Amino acid sequence: MLTTPAYAAPSARAPLAPFTIERREPGPHDVLIDILYCGVCHSDIHQARDEWGGSIFPMVPGHEIVGTVVKAGAHVKKWQIGDTVGVGCFVDSCRECEACQEGEEQFCEDGTATYNSLERDGTTPTYGGYSTRITVNEDFVLRIPKGMPLERVAPLLCAGITTYSPLRQFNVKAGDQVAILGLGGLGHMGVKIAKAMGAIVTVLSHSAGKKEAACALGADHFIDTSQPDAFKVNAKKFDFILDTVSAQHDYNAYLGLLKRDRNMVLVGIPDPIPLSAAPLVMQRRHLSGSLIGGIRETQEMLDFCAEHGVLSDVEVISIDQVNEAYERVIKSDVRYRFVIDLASLK
Ligand code: NAP
Ligand code: ZN
Ligand code: ZN
Repeated sequence: MLTTPAYAAPSARAPLAPFTIERREPGPHDVLIDILYCGVCHSDIHQARDEWGGSIFPMVPGHEIVGTVVKAGAHVKKWQIGDTVGVGCFVDSCRECEACQEGEEQFCEDGTATYNSLERDGTTPTYGGYSTRITVNEDFVLRIPKGMPLERVAPLLCAGITTYSPLRQFNVKAGDQVAILGLGGLGHMGVKIAKAMGAIVTVLSHSAGKKEAACALGADHFIDTSQPDAFKVNAKKFDFILDTVSAQHDYNAYLGLLKRDRNMVLVGIPDPIPLSAAPLVMQRRHLSGSLIGGIRETQEMLDFCAEHGVLSDVEVISIDQVNEAYERVIKSDVRYRFVIDLASLK
């Protein structure tokens, strides 16, 4: 076993603290990755605080991982020592269910999440990227295109694919009026990716102070949703709304901003919110959800971002700043992703 320093949440109510984990020696189809950077996703906070229920403690969060291959098993074909690679939200899957066969491993009936989950043996907990190294099956590793600044790539492994996938799956095209709801880690990637796809992008935000920054990120318009007339003035304006908000908010009000027959897609996962039929029924609108993306689509997203110069805007932190970073994320005070430099843990 490979004794590895990490940071863990000991329980739902305790701050993260130094912790030691064991990584497995790479098997024939595994690679060992030295972790350089790991993004801080709001899902890390939801899970470390057991907001979705069923969390496994102690928990080492982190699923926006970028690093270097330092060891490869005897049968590994895809990777060589020295390759720069990424790992996202899952590290294995059953490979047999319908979702796996269709390359949508994120929906696997028995998948293995990067942390807060169990290895294929069904007993060993998985630990995420708030650590210095990780052993991963070669099929669940992504290639990072050359020349990209790695701290700005890490958030693509979750925030990037989570916004890219619905924009693609729901056929957003050049000239569409797209609204990105919530300008945090996911939201700012949504703005950049939708712009790169040629959409006309509006940010819907409850933080009036983000207006200038939204435009600097490439947004064409900004709507302050705390203004009382915002929903009336902008009714039936959008072809597509991507909802990235992490806290409870009124879905019904936002549905009113869609044109007839159009889609609002939820990627944010707050506590349950009441939904009324009227805004859907009256204009034949659709409300959908989306979960990260499969390995194939994640690679496609990385290549798309390299081609279009799309990168995350990040604040690099050391591992001992992670608890403070969580508090700032909750206050919507991050521009726009915290990324941990794992050199601070070595
Ligand atoms: P984040 O950086 O905290 O961004 C969330 C944004 O939501 C904030 O920046 C803020 O934007 C808005 N917001 C926060 N509290 C609000 C409130 N009370 N009312 C209205 N708006 C509020 O979080 P993230 O990392 O982007 O993650 C967002 C959500 O997506 C989380 O729930 C996370 O678990 C989920 N997620 C889902 C997937 C998936 O596959 N579906 C993947 C990753 C994450 P403004 O300040 O602009 O209003
Ligand atoms: Zn995430
Ligand atoms: Zn499966």
